[in-house]
Amino acid sequence: MTTAPVAARSATAPVPTQSTYQNRVADYWNAEENPVNLELGQIDDLYHHHYGVGEADWSVLDEADPALRRDRITAELHRLEHAQAELLAAHLGPLTPADRVFDAGCGRGGGSITANLRYGCHADGVTISAKQADFANEQARRRDVADKVRYHLRNMLDTGFETGAYAASWNNESTMYVELDLLFAEHARLLRRGGRYVTITGCYNDTYGRASREVSLINAHYICDIHPRSEYFRAMARNRLVPVHVEDLTAATIPYWELRKQADHLVTGVEDTFLDAYRNGSFQYLLIAADRV
Ligand code: SAH
Repeated sequence: MTTAPVAARSATAPVPTQSTYQNRVADYWNAEENPVNLELGQIDDLYHHHYGVGEADWSVLDEADPALRRDRITAELHRLEHAQAELLAAHLGPLTPADRVFDAGCGRGGGSITANLRYGCHADGVTISAKQADFANEQARRRDVADKVRYHLRNMLDTGFETGAYAASWNNESTMYVELDLLFAEHARLLRRGGRYVTITGCYNDTYGRASREVSLINAHYICDIHPRSEYFRAMARNRLVPVHVEDLTAATIPYWELRKQADHLVTGVEDTFLDAYRNGSFQYLLIAADRV
């Protein structure tokens, strides 16, 4: 009998803590400086990297003074994006200042600040981008809430945070970067029993069939992988998350995109693709609130 040397038997290929894909996503967000993400946030230091909901004030387009027109369009888009953040935050509650919330894929931090302003709660935001985490922590310091709102450079699939310590958690337009089963397993671990999970996300519509051309273009634009609607409910059911409220926000987000399309100083080039995707029925903007049982 021959015995393999111990070293040879136990040697495995080194597994990086972060996949190559996740490195590319981090590169994207570390380099990202789109005016639509920065100029809107500068208005009131609430930085959102998601889309808007609600009826737009179209009168901003009639403004005769070019500089003022620009500012009014910027402010209106920010109002619609903040309305989206408030809608999500409203589904997290009721929460008390003693409660802790988890913001998965937190961007430049506007969502955690929105939750803290509303409930006075503690918040932990995680992003895969070091630049975003630093930026968001600086914002929290300036607002004097750094003792309660903290941002971390971590993977939302493997946060290392304390099990059962969170009363609520969410993903605001960040689920398309990860496998839902892994994501919801981490939320279910972090949430206490009876805790609330909320997501607002773009998903592809199962009734259309598979991912449309427009959905594929959006994936290519953001380096992401938009999931079908059905997959959310399957993955939640497998991970102790029971939906309590589902809302199709597709019609509510179209005015935002119509207005943004006309904001020459803010467009990123993806506007028509989103409008086409929503209108041809292949793509939906969805809110899901679920209880952790
Ligand atoms: N929720 C924020 C930002 C949305 S943009 C907002 O509403 O403003 C998508 C975010 O997901 C980015 O901050 C990106 O860094 C983050 N992200 C993508 N993959 C991630 C991962 N595996 N772990 C943590 N954050 C991730």
